[in-house]
Amino acid sequence: MAEYTPMMQEYLKTKEEYKDCILFYRLGDFYEMFFEDAKTASKELELTLTGKSCGAEERAPMCGVPFHAADSYINRLVSRGYKVAICEQVEDPKEAKGLVKREVIRVVTPGTNIDQMALDEGSNNYIMSLFYNRGVFGVSACDISTADFYLTEVDGVRKLIDEVFRFNPAEIIYSKSIFESGIDLNELSNKLECVASKLDDSYFDDVLCTREILTHFHAHSLEGLGLMDFAIGKVAAGSLLTYLKETQKTELAHLTHLTPYTDGKFMLLDSSTRRNLELTETMRDKQKRGSLLWVLDKTKTAMGARQLKAFIEQPLISVDEIIRRQDAIEEINSSLIDREELREYLSSVYDLERLITKITYQSANPRDLIAFKQSIGMLAPIKTLLKGFHSHLIESLDANIDDMKDLYLLIDSAIDDEPPISSRDGDIIKKGYNEEVDRLRLAKIDGKQWLADLEAKEREKTGIKNLKIKFNKVFGFYLEVTNSYKDLVPDYYVRKQTLTNAERYYTPELKELEDSILGAEDRLNTIEYEFFKTVRDTIAASVDRIQITAKSIAMLDAIISLGVVAEKNHYVRPIINNRGVIEIKEGRHPVVEQMIEANQFISNDCQLDVNQNTIAIITGPNMAGKSTYMRQVALIVLMAQIGSFVPATEACIGVVDRIFTRVGASDDLSTGQSTFMVEMNEVANILHNATNKSLLILDEIGRGTSTYDGLSIAWAVVEHIAYNIGAKSLFATHYHELTELEGQIKGVHNYCIAVQELGEDIIFLRKIIPGGADQSYGIQVARLAGLPEEVLTRARTIVNSLNENDIAAVSDRIAIREQIEEKLKEIEGVTISENEAEIIAGLKNLDVTKITPLEAMNILFEFHNKVAE
Ligand code: ATP
Repeated sequence: MAEYTPMMQEYLKTKEEYKDCILFYRLGDFYEMFFEDAKTASKELELTLTGKSCGAEERAPMCGVPFHAADSYINRLVSRGYKVAICEQVEDPKEAKGLVKREVIRVVTPGTNIDQMALDEGSNNYIMSLFYNRGVFGVSACDISTADFYLTEVDGVRKLIDEVFRFNPAEIIYSKSIFESGIDLNELSNKLECVASKLDDSYFDDVLCTREILTHFHAHSLEGLGLMDFAIGKVAAGSLLTYLKETQKTELAHLTHLTPYTDGKFMLLDSSTRRNLELTETMRDKQKRGSLLWVLDKTKTAMGARQLKAFIEQPLISVDEIIRRQDAIEEINSSLIDREELREYLSSVYDLERLITKITYQSANPRDLIAFKQSIGMLAPIKTLLKGFHSHLIESLDANIDDMKDLYLLIDSAIDDEPPISSRDGDIIKKGYNEEVDRLRLAKIDGKQWLADLEAKEREKTGIKNLKIKFNKVFGFYLEVTNSYKDLVPDYYVRKQTLTNAERYYTPELKELEDSILGAEDRLNTIEYEFFKTVRDTIAASVDRIQITAKSIAMLDAIISLGVVAEKNHYVRPIINNRGVIEIKEGRHPVVEQMIEANQFISNDCQLDVNQNTIAIITGPNMAGKSTYMRQVALIVLMAQIGSFVPATEACIGVVDRIFTRVGASDDLSTGQSTFMVEMNEVANILHNATNKSLLILDEIGRGTSTYDGLSIAWAVVEHIAYNIGAKSLFATHYHELTELEGQIKGVHNYCIAVQELGEDIIFLRKIIPGGADQSYGIQVARLAGLPEEVLTRARTIVNSLNENDIAAVSDRIAIREQIEEKLKEIEGVTISENEAEIIAGLKNLDVTKITPLEAMNILFEFHNKVAE
């Protein structure tokens, strides 16, 4: 290292501590990057790669960005998964003896970015910490831009994955113990497109984590924080807190709550169900348009938008809580004028959660304070309107909204209504707030007059008609004389600068004026900044009540949004029950009905319970609307459990603990996961985890393999659900053989989607009716899709030549075997001959799904001969 210049030695020392980051090193007006960092950044940011002599033989590769534009460069790097350490000059270069002191003041990572330009205002930006100990995962998630901070514990890899997908983090930190659990974090982070970093074991030390949490939340015991039952979760939260403090280099005073939760509070939705039901984005394009969120989001604030998204991602399972939301929506919709007035006020409320974070980070500028003032100015009228509502939820929201009059008055009296963005250059403090500020401002105005007087005096004295007093930041004030008047310049003018057409001078008198004017301005800027900081810090001290207010505003906005959508789209309030009954009259798909022409959606009923109508086997042609129908039922149940009204004319919804979906491979191609193995993994997950309180949406099980295997699996799955789980299920299939289960298994019923045949064409009626379909109309649908006529003709020939009984025979044979086994049971105990015993053994070992009709005939013939012997 000795050969490097002192500056480079300092740089390398800092870099050593931040090996995994790109180091932005402040030199003058630039942040410079060196060596590998420079090479990476120049590529990623399209910057010119230059070199700097650093003492070594070769110049150090270098690139840089101007400090005032650094945010956008940092955001670009962070959005691509890099971590950026910002190393700042922490002493005034003018006062520095030797090298200017520099320190890393913040590390920006994907999960800790608080720059509003980089964040989606309708979504949270979570960082998660994962810890594993003896079969239990500790999970903690934090959004430092909104101060949401949670912790929980789960057992099992699958539950962990569900949890991770629920938060959809931008960054994950984890302990090496995670590897013992068998989870593949690389694959997980690739799927989520997030950064995952393994941290040293010291971050996950039990004692240190406890201490970190207790110190941060000023608590004496974990009991006081409600964390006594979260021994493993606490480690995840503690490690996260340590990491955040290390990267943010602040006290994180705005993180005032750590909320523990258990999986019993919300409906569980695994990652594939979230995707399949297109809750917040579409499967194919990952767009909000076309998702349930797109339909339900009529919020007016960013906080409300995030809250609504959280509603959708975490449907409730407590009937009481659901009813509380429903009551609020109903009441809001009973006073449309008040509702619209509330929305009007809400639309002027800025993102209080992210504003208060900026304020506590001391990065809020004067305009942020004005935005804050305008927002809290809306709180009093909102509260006045809320007084007219009496539902439990709205009353509690009103109680939690603090109108913050004191802060409003403070900002209103201190900060100018139209301040500049910069907090250092004055013009921030309102006239009348402070005498000294007013006095110095007057001096500034007087100064202008003094300059004008001096200019006039000098013109007269010298006869230079176009003489002007001007100012720039480098040279200060000067007298400018164009070359044509050069000869008239008197002796006492001292030359400052020569331009092509003019000369610039100063005089002792001008210098004196300059000192007093600039001195006043400097002083003014300094004290304005001090006042501004005091106001900002006073607001920061109220972080707690601002956050509580912000959460209540978010909830109010989300509830109103659900009200607006319910009214606009003609939804009804569902009756929520705990009896496991789902009864929907004239239900509609909330998204599809918005995507097609008005009133063109055909509504359908649904009847499911835990007794007589547990499993609906749905058959029907391709394109008939099976998937739409099943998803519509799942979405209606989910909407009901977030408290929303639903698209139907009547609905009675028994709360479900989980919704599982398995959709056909063909529907899943865009995610590159349409393999039979993935399909079977999903089915295995469903069969292991579903309960009799779950709702299962099974679309085309067994399509990824041979017909016989597929049909057999589908058949066995239905039996397993009916006999061992009892979950309400909608089961769409092209295996018409499954319709034979109606009548054989209690609770299984057939439905099909009606179509009308018109010659070679079919018309989709989209109406679900009792009974099974007997054909798939695949060739007709292929025709609608425009397959060449010769292909269609050939397909028709092939289909006709195939033995129609091939597939039906399987179900026949299964049924025959079952009948024989029944009969055998009946005659149990009756003495039988050796030949008969052989026949029974032969039958038991027979795999009827694997023999051809001809082989079956032969075996039958053999058995017959044996009995006849
Ligand atoms: P496949 O078996 O090929 O997957 P499917 O039976 O599942 O077909 P869907 O994908 O549900 O068919 O529906 C096809 C299209 O029909 C939908 O995209 C939608 O536009 C329309 N559709 C479905 N149901 C209805 C309905 N009830 N009213 C109006 N249009 C509908």
